Amino acid sequence: MSEEKSLNFVEEIVENDLSSGKYDKIITRFPPEPNGFLHIGHASSICLNFGLTQKFNGYTNLRFDDTNPVTEDTIYVDAIKKDIAWLGFKWENELYASDYFDTLYEFAVKLIEKGFAYVDDLSAEEMANLKGTPTEIGKDSPFRNRSVAENLALFAQMKNGDFPDGSKTLRAKVDMAHVNMLMRDPILYRIKHAKHHRTGDKWCIYPMYDFAHGQSDAIEHVTHSVCTLEFIPHRDLYNWLIEKLGIYPSHQYEFARRNLNYTVTSKRKLLQLVNENFVNGWDDPRMPTISGLRRRGFTPSSIRNFCERIGIAKRDNLIEYSLLEFFIREDLNKTSWRRMAVLDPIKMVITNYPEGQEEMLHGENNPEVEGHDGERQIPFSNELWIERDDFMEEPPKKFFRLGPGLMSRLKNAYIVRCDDFVKDAAGNVTEIHCTYFPESKSGEDTSGLKVKGTMHWVSVKHAKTAEVRLYDRLFTSEEPDREEGDFKEYLNPESLTVLKNAYIEPDLANAQQQLEENPDRRYQFIRKGYFCLDADSTADHLIFNRTVTLKDTWAKEIGK
Ligand code: ATP
Ligand code: MG
Repeated sequence: MSEEKSLNFVEEIVENDLSSGKYDKIITRFPPEPNGFLHIGHASSICLNFGLTQKFNGYTNLRFDDTNPVTEDTIYVDAIKKDIAWLGFKWENELYASDYFDTLYEFAVKLIEKGFAYVDDLSAEEMANLKGTPTEIGKDSPFRNRSVAENLALFAQMKNGDFPDGSKTLRAKVDMAHVNMLMRDPILYRIKHAKHHRTGDKWCIYPMYDFAHGQSDAIEHVTHSVCTLEFIPHRDLYNWLIEKLGIYPSHQYEFARRNLNYTVTSKRKLLQLVNENFVNGWDDPRMPTISGLRRRGFTPSSIRNFCERIGIAKRDNLIEYSLLEFFIREDLNKTSWRRMAVLDPIKMVITNYPEGQEEMLHGENNPEVEGHDGERQIPFSNELWIERDDFMEEPPKKFFRLGPGLMSRLKNAYIVRCDDFVKDAAGNVTEIHCTYFPESKSGEDTSGLKVKGTMHWVSVKHAKTAEVRLYDRLFTSEEPDREEGDFKEYLNPESLTVLKNAYIEPDLANAQQQLEENPDRRYQFIRKGYFCLDADSTADHLIFNRTVTLKDTWAKEIGK
């Protein structure tokens, strides 16, 4: 994060390529497949690709890798664009691999003409049988030696829709004995009679990833094509195709996927959670998607700082979710307005405060910043809501809140002493009775009383109700997709707690307006965590999401 931070290994490569004069500017791309919403793993790739061209001279394209018509959709395209822009990055060009379908087709024809590709009639199973194993070379397909003329004719027929799905493929003619299994005559085109989200019914043959990605990179003159480690075996083919086609020599570099613990980062798995209603959509605040994190209250800078901090690696590893929480706390501590909300209420009656009397107290919006970001008024009266667990009938030693005879400070207000409490027939405490000390008013305290605890509260008469949603880890396992059985068996049944009747201080009733005035408006509910207004809120039904609790376990670990 600091200026002197050393370069990561991709940045080093780029710096060398620029200083050696290999390039005078660099071009990167972020290449999502529009088959789902972006997740926190993608954020790493976005920060890396866009970060490179921000740091060095160049630009980044947004390229939708939309070569698989069956799973792709424009709703995903729109969501992806929204998320990248929200993260704070600007792409130079919005591009689609499908825009290159004509060019890719010409490339394929060129390969056939040069004798580097052939039409194969083998089924997927037959092909697999001839492929060999890592220790055993493969066998040639009986169709491998078709003439160029026959291949050209058959490929044209494939394009024209003369053959059913799966009946023919176009394969690269590389080497069935290659040590890299992926080089054993990989498939370049397959037949799929399916409507594409952009090209409609124009095509019934679609290029494979390997015959689209590197070629798109080359068409765009991408200098550094950064992808994740699973593509290492594809690099040979990436280079082979560029060489045989004689197109712009883009280079592929790989870094390790970033995965967070207690969640899954795979669009396919996240889609299952959405489709099978385990969550309420892609932007459910429990989801590790960018849209879920946004709804949960994460800020773009907290996600960027997190990605910067974890950096990039050459080996897969699991990142602690609590590190992400550390960065959002750091951000929100500086920007959020302090407010009081009682989530699990019990009534406190102040017996020596005149009934019917009320006064306005003042509370700083944010004591952490200069000028305190202004202040708001907080009404006080003889009946308050306090948190149920701030009272104990038989408090242990070092309990600094309320119990018979104990004193505590009410935030921004007075010191109170608990004298008595009331129980219902079932033995539950329903009300506690206190006396307050008029000289102990916050900011002008002359009482000389010393208390250790400070509690939040809301005046009963002035309180508004709100729904509060608390979130926990989505899974109970650190790596649900590495567990035995289905990953969904490890969903945390307590990942969502809905409190329908929380009491909030009256200023929070203006939360919708405050959000309109400042889209970054967030709150710290004192002692309860950081919260944001949920988009489902209406004027008379406000809903707050807890972004994160206040507890700072990670901060201790890294010595902050
Ligand atoms: P998923 O399995 O979630 O669909 P993907 O790799 O298939 O992931 P793409 O849309 O193809 O998703 O990814 C776009 C870019 O983001 C690729 O360059 C990919 O390598 C990168 N990416 C995807 N997941 C991660 C991750 N967990 N960490 C880092 N980069 C990632
Ligand atoms: Mg993919």
